[in-house]
Amino acid sequence: MSLTEIQRLQTLLPTWVETNRLLCANGKVASYIPELAKSPIDALGIHLINAQGNSVSAGNSELTFTMQSISKVFTLILALMDNGESGVFDKVGMEPTGDNFNSMLKLELVQPGIPFNPLINAGAIAISSLIAGESPTEKSRRVLEFFRLLSNNRSLDYDLDVYRSESDTANLNRSMAYFLKDNGVLEGAVEDVLDVYFRHCSICVTCTDLAQMALVLAHNGTNPITGEELIPRRYVQIAKTFMTTCGMYNASGEFAIQVGLPAKSGVSGGILTLVPGRYGIGLVGPSLNRKGNSIAGVALLEQMSQTFDWSLF
Ligand code: GLU
Repeated sequence: MSLTEIQRLQTLLPTWVETNRLLCANGKVASYIPELAKSPIDALGIHLINAQGNSVSAGNSELTFTMQSISKVFTLILALMDNGESGVFDKVGMEPTGDNFNSMLKLELVQPGIPFNPLINAGAIAISSLIAGESPTEKSRRVLEFFRLLSNNRSLDYDLDVYRSESDTANLNRSMAYFLKDNGVLEGAVEDVLDVYFRHCSICVTCTDLAQMALVLAHNGTNPITGEELIPRRYVQIAKTFMTTCGMYNASGEFAIQVGLPAKSGVSGGILTLVPGRYGIGLVGPSLNRKGNSIAGVALLEQMSQTFDWSLF
């Protein structure tokens, strides 16, 4: 009897994690948020889950880390659910930038001065201001509740050390947010909007949480294990498209060629990806390559996708 793919993954992943882990020595952990500099540089972990709830874990899959930019996918979805497409796309565009994730260059150069897409910092800050709620506390509470629902983990919470560390040092994001306010992109007080943004970036997860959230995207918004419809299919389609075109910073084209799956990475070394209709995948490897993606994590995903022919293209 031939082995199923998931059985093969169970056999292969522990070895693949150990061989790719060696690449961690060639990267660096993020340090511009001082608390992130404490991340374990040699860590590499992965969790993969399918619609039947069968899963595979390997390496440091129990490590906790903050979502950082991965959270932007899900605040975008919540903003779409709160405001509809026109409400969101009046304030952010649909195009990749080719600039750094924290660049504000094009806000001045390209009219009408709205962020190019919701996955760069300027765009995600604009999205934070679109989350429904009477106060920043209420907006953040709704974001956290949504993430708990998608991850099927009621105990998901903030890493307050990372939250404070980012908030205390965010000169660039702060200047960008004031610029956006002046361009008429942000609703409400700038510091309130930033607080919502810093909080969702600091939500603390494991690879299992990311895999559960990815599984919902892989099944067009329905949790295939519970059968619950959590996100309208159209908004999942929009989120997956942004993940494909801009999810891996300025290596999104290379990732599309080498791996060929929608994905989003964050500066903490997390990557959320999915095989449509099949798997949700969460990965962490805090050592980053020069483009800001997990150096060992990207190599591991290339090996998996190429071995099992997962590319969508
Ligand atoms: N909170 C981070 C920042 O604003 C997120 C960056 C990222 O993960 O790309 O700089």
